[in-house]
Amino acid sequence: MPLTRLKISRIIDPCAYLKHYRRMRLQILVAALGIALMPLAHATQKDSPQNEAAGVEVLMARVAPPSQEAVDAFKKAGIEDIRPHMLTASERARVEAVLASLPSLNRHVLEKKLHHLAFVDGIPGEGTGLTSSVAKTGLYDITLRASILDELLLTFLTTKERRVFTDDGSGIRVTVKGTGTDTLTYVLLHESTHVMDKSCGITAEPRSQFVTGIWTNQKEMVPALASSVAATTYFRGGRLLKVGQAATVYDALAQTPFVSLYATASAQEDFAEFVAWHEILKRHHGNLVIDMNDARGNTLRRWEPLTFPEVQTRFADVDELLASQIPCPGLS
Ligand SMILES: [Zn+2]
Repeated sequence: MPLTRLKISRIIDPCAYLKHYRRMRLQILVAALGIALMPLAHATQKDSPQNEAAGVEVLMARVAPPSQEAVDAFKKAGIEDIRPHMLTASERARVEAVLASLPSLNRHVLEKKLHHLAFVDGIPGEGTGLTSSVAKTGLYDITLRASILDELLLTFLTTKERRVFTDDGSGIRVTVKGTGTDTLTYVLLHESTHVMDKSCGITAEPRSQFVTGIWTNQKEMVPALASSVAATTYFRGGRLLKVGQAATVYDALAQTPFVSLYATASAQEDFAEFVAWHEILKRHHGNLVIDMNDARGNTLRRWEPLTFPEVQTRFADVDELLASQIPCPGLS
């Protein structure tokens, strides 16, 4: 059995742990123990139902407990109670169904690049999980908070969004509704897109249509966007805003090409958010709705980012990407 010695796990999506790791740059040393690599599926030019089923089966074989190294890495980063979550039969069936629902391109990327998909307990409420590269293998681990399996997408998105604001006594509340799908689907769309991006260097390429005119590098926006109030939030390292400022923030977001405030965090998050919400709109016929309510629950304002003009002009880029069977030569 081939063994690969792992020394460094590089976190590429620390988004869920901002509270603890906002400034953490990205390398966690893990113990150098051997880990067996699963055989990778062969590339498929076109997903027939048979190939699709085989691909899902290959991915399900990589649903495994997190490596001890990954658990150690969490503990080292301050999450002491982290522990493997053993999926029940019904949970495994749900994971399988979600993997089958991914765009064929994302599934193809995971067939080529996923090492382990793991679920863990003990992550504080607002954490999601992480995507991390396995050193010297070109493969990636996706490790998710198991409780997202039972979490409403409304709860998941709203909890994340409210980190941007502080209570100002006005009674105003921001609520984010995602319809058409569930939290696990949204999260796996987002994380598998990170794996695609990292594997192909999509957002690292300045001439990429997902970057040009928006990002000057993976962290910095073009000046016209950088000066937007929407680009000053907690998600970009800014201070917390009084919730009464929500209308100003979302009105500003509506003038940008970003599908969510979280998408402003970096070019990588912008890309992952865009592909995920494109799929939720086009495949799952869902929507993203941000409500600002008063203390009595009356809706004061509503935004639907998937209808923002500059967002809509970008959808064709995702259509084109997902129509391709191979996102880059390295994944042929
Ligand atoms: Zn992310």
